[in-house]
Parts: sequence; structure tokens; C-alpha cells
Amino acid sequence: MIVTAHGKLNLSLDVLGRGDDGYHALRSVMHTVAFGDDVQVELTSDGSFTIDPGQSYLPADGRNLAVKAARLFLEGTGLGADIRITKRIPVCAGMGGGSADAAAVLRALNALTGRNMTAEELSGLGAQVGSDVPFCVAEGSALAEGRGEQLTALPSLPRCSIVLCKPAFSISTPELFARIDRRRSRLHPDTAGLMAALEAGDLAGVARRCFNVFEDVLGGRGSDIAAIKSLLTDMGALGAAMTGSGSTVFGLFASEDDAKDAWEALSGQHQECWLTRPWSGGQA
Ligand code: ATP
Repeated sequence: MIVTAHGKLNLSLDVLGRGDDGYHALRSVMHTVAFGDDVQVELTSDGSFTIDPGQSYLPADGRNLAVKAARLFLEGTGLGADIRITKRIPVCAGMGGGSADAAAVLRALNALTGRNMTAEELSGLGAQVGSDVPFCVAEGSALAEGRGEQLTALPSLPRCSIVLCKPAFSISTPELFARIDRRRSRLHPDTAGLMAALEAGDLAGVARRCFNVFEDVLGGRGSDIAAIKSLLTDMGALGAAMTGSGSTVFGLFASEDDAKDAWEALSGQHQECWLTRPWSGGQA
């Protein structure tokens, strides 16, 4: 069985504070996109687990989140899984690629074994693999709170085009959290306004509220991210922001032609650019 592991965007991302356990409380409106990895899953009767992770630098053993998810799902059944990933989602880029692969494996195994676990049960398993996995199981749009695992479903984005651009550098997630912690005051996204705009099907209202608190603490890389955002908005994006801890930047467009022009312009400057659309869920 081959399923798509859809990438995610943080339309907004807020860090509310840091708990005694060291984890940060987040508040984010998340959305899946049509762009993603292909994940091929086959059951094995001898209980073995193998993976082709699709890139030489990704773990090809039990450390891969796709294998973790498969082991968890098949625990106690005597069955194993052969997993092959065609990797498209950029790695360590804020698009939740590992979590998406894990969620795709859970959905595939649910269908292949005929176990028919409910979405809630699958999400519960996913939470044991990683905090973004429950969202990737659910797909569509949701407000994610806590570490990202507490989900409230939201309406999907209205029809639009999305341009993604991953500049050729990654950003250290622990470093960004440390910088956030050092800030006495910080800007916050208008999360409530963004959710109201989603409810109203108001694309422009959503797009102008896309904001990620990490953009405020980027240091030297901030100018590269700002340049991509400027190009996107100059070329017609209704809004643009960085997703997760970066470095992927997205722009939301009402016009597909404008999005295509922006994608072409960015592709001249950056190797990893994609043109996609929102994904509202609904695949096995
Ligand atoms: P997030 O937005 O959730 O913070 P990310 O997009 O920044 O995620 P990922 O690409 O999901 O980050 O992966 C980050 C780490 O997870 C890498 O160090 C990678 O080695 C590990 N990993 C394990 N399994 C996978 C997988 N199937 N695909 C990608 N990365 C994986």
C-alpha cells in the first residue's frame, strides 16, 4: 500500500511559556499541504522491520519515526513491516516530515491489518511517537496546544495556492527556544483572529495573521527569511511566514498564476521551492 505523508505548516506559532519539565507550551494553528512523501508499507509475516528512508542521511533503523510507529502499531501481533519512503519533504525544515511519515505508516497499517482503529485511537498511538504525529494522523487544520498534541479541529483553508521555499540552511530548534526564553517581552500572533478568519472562510484574513514567534529571534538568518517573505508578498502573496522552527517559508496566494510566478522567481534563487495547495484530509 502506498500512502502520502502530507507536510504541515504552522500558519501561526506562539510559544506561551516553559513548564517545570523543560517543555514549552505552544499554541499553533496547523494545516496540512498536498505536498508530501510517498510511503510504501507491506506487512511481513516473520515480524521483521526494514526501512528504506529515501535519503542516505536519514536513520534506516528503529530510530526512524516511521519504524517506531510501525513497531508500536504491530506490537504483540507477530507481524512486521517493510517500509519504503520517497522523501520529498525537506528534513529539519519545520514541515514535520518525520511525524508525517509516522502518521502515514499508522494509517496504512490500520487499513492493511483491517484493525479499523478510530482516528482518536490512532492519534493516541501517534502521540507516543512524537507530539506532531497526532496532527499528522488527523490532517486538515487544527489548533494545536500543549506540546502540539492537544488538538481542536478547525475548518480548512479556503481554496488557494501555496508557495514553499526552503533556503539552503537549517535553523537550530533548541537555540531558537533558548533565545525565546531570554526575551522578556515578545510579539504574539493573533491566534483567535486567525481562527475566526478560518471559520469565516476569509483567506485574506487568515493570510495577514500568519505569524511565527520564532521569526522575531532569528538573528543573522532573519534577513534571508525576510527577503523570501518580501518576494512572496511583492509577487501577490496575501501573507507569508516561516513554518515551525524553519527554515521553510510559505506564502498564501488567492491567484494560482501569481503563485506560479512567485515560485518561478524564487526557484531562480533557491534550489528547494514547491508550488502546492492546502490538504484538508480524507485519504486512507
Ligand atoms: P518539526 O516541524 O516537527 O519540528 P522538522 O520538519 O523540523 O519537524 P523532521 O524533518 O521531521 O524535522 O526531522 C527531524 C529529525 O527527525 C531529523 O534529525 C531526522 O534524522 C529524524 N527522523 C527520524 N525519522 C525521520 C523521517 N522518517 N523523516 C525525516 N526525519 C526523520
